[in-house]
Amino acid sequence: MSKIIGIDLGTTNSCVSVMEGNNVVVIANREGSRTTPSIVAFSNTGDTLVGQMAKRQAAKNPKNTVFAVKRLIGRTIDDPEVVRLKSLVPFDIVPMGSGERKTPGVKIGDKEYSPQEISALILSQMRDIAEDYVGEKIEQAVITVPANFNDAQRQATRDAGRIAGLDVLRVINEPTAASLGYGFGEDRHETIVVYDLGGGTFDISILRLGDGMYEVLSTVGDPFLGGEDFDNRIVETLLSEFQDENGIDLHSDMSAMYRIKEAAECAKQELSVARETEINLPFLTIKDGAPLHMSRTITRTELEDLTRDIVEKTIPICQQALDDAQLTAKDITQVVLVGGMTRMPLVRERVQQYFNIPINTDVNPDEIVSIGASVQAGVLNGDVQEVALMDVTPLSLGIETMGGVFMPLIPRNTPIPCEASEIFSTTVDYQEMVNVHVLQGERELASENYSLARFELWGIPPLLRGMPQIEVSFKIDASGIVSVSALEKTTGREANVKIEASGGLSESEIDTMIAEAEAKRNSDAELHERIDKINEAKGLVYMAERSLKQMGSYLPEDTVAQFQNAIAQHMDYLNNNPNDMLTEDVKSTIRELEKLAQTIAETAFNAMSN
Ligand code: ADP
Ligand code: MG
Repeated sequence: MSKIIGIDLGTTNSCVSVMEGNNVVVIANREGSRTTPSIVAFSNTGDTLVGQMAKRQAAKNPKNTVFAVKRLIGRTIDDPEVVRLKSLVPFDIVPMGSGERKTPGVKIGDKEYSPQEISALILSQMRDIAEDYVGEKIEQAVITVPANFNDAQRQATRDAGRIAGLDVLRVINEPTAASLGYGFGEDRHETIVVYDLGGGTFDISILRLGDGMYEVLSTVGDPFLGGEDFDNRIVETLLSEFQDENGIDLHSDMSAMYRIKEAAECAKQELSVARETEINLPFLTIKDGAPLHMSRTITRTELEDLTRDIVEKTIPICQQALDDAQLTAKDITQVVLVGGMTRMPLVRERVQQYFNIPINTDVNPDEIVSIGASVQAGVLNGDVQEVALMDVTPLSLGIETMGGVFMPLIPRNTPIPCEASEIFSTTVDYQEMVNVHVLQGERELASENYSLARFELWGIPPLLRGMPQIEVSFKIDASGIVSVSALEKTTGREANVKIEASGGLSESEIDTMIAEAEAKRNSDAELHERIDKINEAKGLVYMAERSLKQMGSYLPEDTVAQFQNAIAQHMDYLNNNPNDMLTEDVKSTIRELEKLAQTIAETAFNAMSN
């Protein structure tokens, strides 16, 4: 049976793993890193770059470098989250879609990309990383999503997988996956909290583990809370200081903003281990013909003071998760920290203090979600037995009733898969059609919840009002994806109403994108070949360096200096021109390097024999 990979498709970073025997292996990418930035860039030479390569060129190409696309997926253009993101990112977010419901797209040059397509590029990359490792074609995956993703976001994520040529066998919640990863292979009887603070979202779940059962007791989240908020606090501080000092507002200077943001994030991460760090940004901008720099020391205490309230915001959410599970902090026996932000000491301290138990340090917060996805993959293909997952739906599913009131049919925290039905009737004599508006959310007014779909039930027998009996069934499958069917009870006629295109793309749009992605795979293969060439070239530079080190003592000083110079030039070129390199035929560089290594060896040999 072909392998099923587990993918943590993160807002900031993605991670892929696969089950091998009884173990899950987290797979490193070409750069040797076990997580890959969820960033896609379109270079002016027409290349699509994904991951580390995209991140590296971001400051130089901000308008065409797309990040945090997970914040857009499955949402509508007027969603507050989308509106907020629009004001924060340097790339263009535009309305897309032909129907009434406009979804956000990313505009690059004159082409618009849906969030699904951008996500598909990241998923393809993760699949390629896995294929390189296992040495066979991979067509199936389990993908994780934040626990609070609604139906549209789950469908859109699954569609992204399809566009990437992956059959997404299951979509599972990140915290649930983390608990699976944590409990896998051990006989644990515990009530655990999974506290996941990533780049853009905060999720908390409480689970009961025992005898191979993973029962989700509650799950709550805040999609507006994550590492970016911490970065932004530092960025805003730096910007206002810079403005005070120089009278220049850098907010609209995209490339300066990129550098400041990157430096802020870097400083934040360093302060997880160091007490103090430097922010140094030379040549940030120019004033009256003179360059301006930014240079400053930042301490851990200062960062903590700047961001304490953000950490504090997670606490009432923890409390809500406990309340929902009808537990108190005392009932929790283990806290599993997930997400890069939980490496921050302040976060660890606050969580430990709140639950009053030592924090588990065995779990790698960057990898555990992907590991859990692979365990779930193992359950699906039969490699893993004695694991039963009982997940819940994070949002109430219901319909709009008279006066615009929301009536929940499946309350949140109901174990999935689940089903509920409701009898509808007519309000007017001989009415032939009934409108049903399906929503997800917790608010009393329908208009304040997320609208999944409006559909019409047709062909109702002409009867007096209130007489027809239409039974509408709502199903939520194990991936948390909603489907709806309807039955007219007096005639027994089935009216299947699927919530079509809830993810934002129609079937035919998806088919087109699958074809495009497949066609692009060839050029992706080409791109990889070129990257391989560059790596080969770098290998040759190292070789030349090594031979010079070994044999340099036999050579005259100026010859050594000459060679050193040549080596440095080649390395500089390979390091500093990622975009050029991709278009240039590096064969000539390789030939030059081979010649250089050979010349070094020959010169040294001649010197020795003289
Ligand atoms: P996501 O789930 O959104 O993809 P991750 O779990 O990868 O996110 O977390 C990314 C966030 O974690 C970023 O904001 C990043 O800056 C932050 N982060 C990563 N490492 C550290 C660290 N050592 N200290 C503090 N924050 C970190
Ligand atoms: Mg994550």
